[in-house]
Amino acid sequence: MVPKADILMIDSTVQVIDVERRAALAEKFNLIYYDCENTTEFIQRLQPGGPYSKIVAILRNGWLKAGPLAQQTPFASEIVPHYPPSLKLICCSGHGHDAADVDAIKARGIWYCNTPDTCTEAVANTSLSLVLECFRFFTYAQWCARNDWLSSRDLGLKAVDPCGKALGIVGMGDIGLAIAQKCESALGMKIHYHGRRRKLDAERLLKYGASYHENLDEMISMVDCVVIAAPYSKDTHHLLSRERLSLAKKEGLRVVNIARGKMIDEDALIEALEDGRVVGAGLDVHANEPGINPKLRDNWRVTLLPHIGVCSPSFLVIGAGVIGLTTALELRARHPEARINIAAKYLPGDSAPEYTSAWGGANWFPASNDNGRQEDWDAITYKKFRQLSSTCPASGILPMNIRFHYDRPIDEVGIKTPATGKLWFEDLVGGLTKIQGDALPEGTAFGFEMASFVIDVQKYLPWLQAEAERQGIKIYRKIFHTIQEALSFDSQAVVFNCTGIGSMTLGGVQDNTMFSARGQILLVEAPKEPIQKMYFRAPHRDADATHIFPRGTTGGVILGGCRQKDNWNGEAELAFAEVIKARCCALVPQLGRPEDLRVVKHGVGLRPGRKGGARIEAERFDNRLVIHNYGAGGTGFQASWGMAQYAVDLVPPRAHL
Ligand SMILES: Cc1cc2nc3c(=O)[nH]c(=O)nc-3n(C[C@H](O)[C@H](O)[C@H](O)COP(=O)(O)OP(=O)(O)OC[C@H]3O[C@@H](n4cnc5c(N)ncnc54)[C@H](O)[C@@H]3O)c2cc1C
Repeated sequence: MVPKADILMIDSTVQVIDVERRAALAEKFNLIYYDCENTTEFIQRLQPGGPYSKIVAILRNGWLKAGPLAQQTPFASEIVPHYPPSLKLICCSGHGHDAADVDAIKARGIWYCNTPDTCTEAVANTSLSLVLECFRFFTYAQWCARNDWLSSRDLGLKAVDPCGKALGIVGMGDIGLAIAQKCESALGMKIHYHGRRRKLDAERLLKYGASYHENLDEMISMVDCVVIAAPYSKDTHHLLSRERLSLAKKEGLRVVNIARGKMIDEDALIEALEDGRVVGAGLDVHANEPGINPKLRDNWRVTLLPHIGVCSPSFLVIGAGVIGLTTALELRARHPEARINIAAKYLPGDSAPEYTSAWGGANWFPASNDNGRQEDWDAITYKKFRQLSSTCPASGILPMNIRFHYDRPIDEVGIKTPATGKLWFEDLVGGLTKIQGDALPEGTAFGFEMASFVIDVQKYLPWLQAEAERQGIKIYRKIFHTIQEALSFDSQAVVFNCTGIGSMTLGGVQDNTMFSARGQILLVEAPKEPIQKMYFRAPHRDADATHIFPRGTTGGVILGGCRQKDNWNGEAELAFAEVIKARCCALVPQLGRPEDLRVVKHGVGLRPGRKGGARIEAERFDNRLVIHNYGAGGTGFQASWGMAQYAVDLVPPRAHL
């Protein structure tokens, strides 16, 4: 048997060990646990014949500042020459890599991996708070409130609002950009930045853009507050030096550091605070951690944190249909600090029968009658649509009445809630108007008109996507064959499974209670006299319905439809399209003659049906949390916000993630 290669594990005392993955690693490798007293001992053990002399990889994980190993620097310049020739890989958690001599490691042919982008939200929020502190000194004010009210008079001339002030960010990476976005939108600050090169993409993500300064001295002389968000290296050591601080405006500079303590010359900062060139400082990081310079500690204009701008929860949403996008936005609303990614095979703008959201009519017309959660999903979404349609017309959601008719008497069509004997949505929509006499189409038994919403899905999906991106959610194109692949794609995240009909085949899920309910539609040009209402007609609740959904005055009219169970044909059947045309023109004569309709396109979508309704449920895979939100059938738009709310409710408190 080939002997197993050695991996050296440097475990932090603060971390969650994924026991099963650790066991899987141990099956293939011999795991040796680091327990050196100091790096001198580490060097000895690396020597030929020593216990670490054959290691192929080093894994350092968890919170590096925690526990007895925090001060040890196993990747520093003086250690690298002692690594054995067998060493090929170093993996170290954390965003910064200043404690590693990456150049020397690379020169030895060893790969060095870190974990950028895991702490972006947490660090950006920490920065936002420190920027505000530097202007308003709330920490000191709180001390005064608790201990000595009169001392708060010192604040009078110093505390000002940051609105309209210039914020200069050193380093416009992920974290710098997140800080810029937060300070621009929350505090109304004007953004300047310095870095090795101009970043037009980042500038575009800011509402009012940003001023780029190739020269840091120039930026310091123009801004009211500087935030350091760049990596530490020998080139950035004492980046804020005595000379640079002397360039501050005469009104004074504020200084925030969330990067590394040694990027500021702390003695120079103390002098600048004393002579007024620096008005306030907010420091999460310090030159001699865990120690804090006493002169900074004793100055009330300095807000101090013990290097806490680290990780917050993260979520991966699989699926970028209406359910995935809405779930991601609901997550953002409830977990503003979290890292959220969406990964999906199809994204808004794509067209495929199994990307159902691209084919939704769509309107709000409830099919729920469970006197329970399905009705609640629809009700929550109705209220959200009301808000979106009034505050955000760009979303593609318009208020529009719907006329619905059934061929059989009301007590036979299954639309009343059995538990109450009522149409549950009557009050929600502000009442139902009965269609009387001649206005009732021939062959129908009854009909009502009510206030509802039409959704132009070609606008709504890109709008949801843009909202997600604006709120810092990253979207990737990716196919997962199994749920385990998704769990590995983001090894920290809680995964939301919003794969729609994909849940029938996604390995690990393979839900055999699902079925496809094929829908076929046509988009036709709007008639000369625009149709002002939506129309719906069906024999009963579960039968094929005829529907006509005008998309505003210019977006054409959607005609449908059918609900063909287990029919997987992704091609439009042209003979059936003629049937749809005839049914729609009979229901709404204003459309004209079927043969005169100008078809813009035909479409087929496979609704993600599921026996018993949608699945919103938490499940553990290898001790990792997956929250399912799929199987919306023909109601994915009208139930979307409610479903998202119920799914996000299943996220447990942080400690149980
Ligand atoms: C003709 C028609 C009319 C409709 N009218 C209405 C209406 O009026 N009102 C209404 O509320 N609803 C309507 N619906 C239903 C509605 O469109 C669906 O309920 C809804 O689109 C389902 O959304 P979803 O996000 O669950 O699925 P989808 O939109 O199909 O999204 C699934 C996502 O998961 C991704 N995915 C799947 N598997 C994988 C994988 N293995 N790896 C990576 N990504 C994966 C896909 O790429 C996609 O991004 C209609 C549907 C049709 C077909």
